[in-house]
Amino acid sequence: VAKRLSGKTIVITGASSGIGRSTAFEFARTAPDNLRLILTARRLDVLEELAVKIREAVGDGVKVLPVRLDVSNPEEVRAFVPGLPEEWRDINVLVNNAGLVKGVAQAPNIAEEDINAMFQTNVTGLINMTQAVLPIFKARPEGGGGDIINIGSIAGREPYVGGSIYCATKAAVRSFTDSLRRELVATRIRVMEVDPGQVETEFSVVRFYGDKSKADAVYAGCEPLTPDDIAEVVVFVAGRRENVIIADTLVFPSHQA
Ligand code: NDP
Repeated sequence: VAKRLSGKTIVITGASSGIGRSTAFEFARTAPDNLRLILTARRLDVLEELAVKIREAVGDGVKVLPVRLDVSNPEEVRAFVPGLPEEWRDINVLVNNAGLVKGVAQAPNIAEEDINAMFQTNVTGLINMTQAVLPIFKARPEGGGGDIINIGSIAGREPYVGGSIYCATKAAVRSFTDSLRRELVATRIRVMEVDPGQVETEFSVVRFYGDKSKADAVYAGCEPLTPDDIAEVVVFVAGRRENVIIADTLVFPSHQA
């Protein structure tokens, strides 16, 4: 796997926390000799600290570029690739991980700004990021090459009460991923999805607008996955032989029905 990943340039959205952060470490640990990691999120200071930690953990073989990027802002996304230093533009893997859930409410008590934040981040942001890298992937010889790994959710398959908007965004991710994979058949561009179940991250705290006690209650009496559990799967699918597409993976903790 280290050989297959060696020399690649990998973009991770939402790398400042949770699954994205763990995925950055996992790529770095797996291919420590020759890798470029472009870590993006809105909190640049956190990404800069993460870059230092990755360097301390694996050394200089992994080059890390922290980039402030709000995926829900189409103009920022459009400026992302042209704004990279030239040697960083040859992107091979995009991990579309940035995402959030805002509020647990039943229609019609869902704030419009929460609806917009979820769709603009989880869906439009993911689509726009994909559009940003596809020209690079398509320009490669023999019909192209590159990996798009979308982080969906079990919520995209199994809707729950109070989660109508979030579930709808993740169902949209699922549909987009599946369509795009079919569109790109017979190219060497792989479009894949990893769907986590319950994972303990900042995600739950964001859902309750920062209320940690409410967030902790979500995990009471159960053992959620760790972000590393998902990161290992993401790196596994990226590390397959290029003729192998692990199209769709659902990963959830053993207690979760
Ligand atoms: P975290 O809240 O820990 O991390 C979310 C990341 O997304 C942060 O790095 C955050 O960084 C970033 N982010 C949020 N909004 C934006 C934005 N507009 N632009 C750029 N970055 C953004 O959550 P998780 O690690 O748990 O979530 C990662 C993915 O996994 C999400 O897509 C989520 O839906 C999915 N998922 C999570 C599950 C869970 O139980 N935790 C279950 C199923 C799926 P910053 O604030 O710095 O921008």
